[in-house]
Amino acid sequence: MAAFGTVFMPQMTLATFEDGQWSDIQTVPSDRLEFHPGAHVLHYSSTCFEGLKAFRHDNGDVCIFRMDANIRRMAQSSRLLSLPPIDEAQLHQMIVDIVTQFKGDVPTPPGSMYIRPTHIGTEAAIGKAAAPSMSSLLYVLLSPVGDYFAGGDVTLRLLLEENGQRCAPHMGMVKSGGNYASALGPISRARESVDADQVLFCPNGDVQETGAANFILIDGDEVITKGLDSSFLHGVTRDSILTLARDLGMTVSERDLTVDELIERAQKPGTEAALSGTAAVLTPVGTLIHNGQEFQVGNGKPGATTLRLREALNNVQWGKAEDAHGWLTRI
Ligand SMILES: *Cc1c(COP(=O)(O)O)cnc(C)c1O
Repeated sequence: MAAFGTVFMPQMTLATFEDGQWSDIQTVPSDRLEFHPGAHVLHYSSTCFEGLKAFRHDNGDVCIFRMDANIRRMAQSSRLLSLPPIDEAQLHQMIVDIVTQFKGDVPTPPGSMYIRPTHIGTEAAIGKAAAPSMSSLLYVLLSPVGDYFAGGDVTLRLLLEENGQRCAPHMGMVKSGGNYASALGPISRARESVDADQVLFCPNGDVQETGAANFILIDGDEVITKGLDSSFLHGVTRDSILTLARDLGMTVSERDLTVDELIERAQKPGTEAALSGTAAVLTPVGTLIHNGQEFQVGNGKPGATTLRLREALNNVQWGKAEDAHGWLTRI
């Protein structure tokens, strides 16, 4: 099967911001864009994106999961990058329009239609290293995706990185291109040196997140994850999992977690760890690598609570459980 995110629907919705206002929504071919090589985004990385999914239910309905949370986050990213302000109602319409057009192509579970809104600064002004782009382009790409878990019983190996950081500390909560390029060096080195799947960034011992997913620790009835601050991306999946954990009567502790505490707790039988994100849903972590030593998390296998929380989330997304929190937008 094609790699995640390499197949695209042939059309996308697009709007441009010029002279202080947004254009009407256009539907255009999704295999090209036209803008000046001097565009702000290509030189000064004025870019942000979102990732969300539409799911097909047994009764034929297609539902988008937590669209409003993703739109709000994109508006926030745009603001923090000094891009033109997103018109949230218009972006809502752009997403609904394009998903409606390709409703028939939304895969059945465990597949889904991945939705990728992208916002870039297009002003042709290479003298603007220290000034915002006054024009921009917003588009919504669609990519049908399969099950990230085709691997079955696998768990991830994470390298704990205490010296480097994923991105500049004030940029962690912005879903912006440069942050991912900035994390590629450490991730590639971790793959080569210790065969790690991901790097868990823990600057000065503070457990934050991996390159593109949040980290959660599960100890019995308690779910522990870092409390929201500007240093890391505030995942919609993280928030959904914490909400479902509370619904199941679990204790949710949003607080700082140190590497020392993580390693100590991880080795207790019954402890579980997982990564959360739209693409990965909830991926079990089996091994932590720290200072040349490997620590198995619990029994090293996918944990029962991790699987239960993932199933609870999938059940809402797939229309198999009540949408008690109003997370679905029916197309
Ligand atoms: C997108 C992303 C996440 C996960 O966010 P979701 O809203 O759950 O998809 C976590 N960390 C980073 C760095 C991300 O880019």
